[in-house]
Amino acid sequence: MGHLPRLKKSFGQHLLLASGILERIVEYAELTSEDMIVEIGPGTGNLTVQILKKNPQKVFLLEADPEMVAYLENRFSEEIKEKRLIVYLADAKCFDYEVISAKEFKILGNLPYNQASLIVERVIFFFTKVPLAIFMVQKEVAERWQSRESWLSFFIQTFFDIEYLMTVPPRFFFPRPKVHSAVIKLKRKQKKEMIAPLEDYKNFLIRLFTQKRKALKHKMGEEILQKANIPPQTRAEELTLEKVWELYQLWQKNN
Ligand code: SAH
Repeated sequence: MGHLPRLKKSFGQHLLLASGILERIVEYAELTSEDMIVEIGPGTGNLTVQILKKNPQKVFLLEADPEMVAYLENRFSEEIKEKRLIVYLADAKCFDYEVISAKEFKILGNLPYNQASLIVERVIFFFTKVPLAIFMVQKEVAERWQSRESWLSFFIQTFFDIEYLMTVPPRFFFPRPKVHSAVIKLKRKQKKEMIAPLEDYKNFLIRLFTQKRKALKHKMGEEILQKANIPPQTRAEELTLEKVWELYQLWQKNN
């Protein structure tokens, strides 16, 4: 299998060693032999092995560390690579998922903690292709995404329901991280009608949540707020998902 690459802090490399937990992550994804899978940050391929056991049609690995990519190329047989495994040296923060030759694919990944938000943000831009994702992230990050306190939590929850599946303590990793981890499921909501480029919606959310304690009337015209039936003193964090969406539709028409 070759030597284990030196584990690098800069890539957030904490390998998940417990096979019981790896198996559960794969169970949560309810894989079938029809499925196309993208795995983000496969590292040495421990999760990949469990995914392959379910015989999915194809597995695409996105790994940013060239040493890990070399290790993965070695770990899996020519036969598997010919039939169903493709390894990309890629940065998941800016990967073009259109490259994946499948209409839809599920995403799995034990994400590097310091980059999890940017990686998930990127995934959201391709929501029409992703019916389901299972991610491991820092526990606090999972909780923040589930709350409605940041532009990113609204961005994610506009398109996906987030379910907290389980907490994983540091002892199951090598090297041990300083924080607890959480496995979460993103399940795509009924298709949203998205007319404008998603970048536009993202910018709108950032605008709402910058200085989030400031009343909304300082951020957009009072007529728009009135049309949406929102009192001008309201703050972004007080809005429901539905209201934010409604406000966005009105905002878009006026801009
Ligand atoms: N899935 C493995 C390793 C998780 S550690 C396991 O559970 O054991 C996180 C992995 O993500 C590392 O392999 C790291 O090299 C990789 N990684 C870090 N930044 C990345 C990025 N921007 N894009 C893709 N992979 C990345």
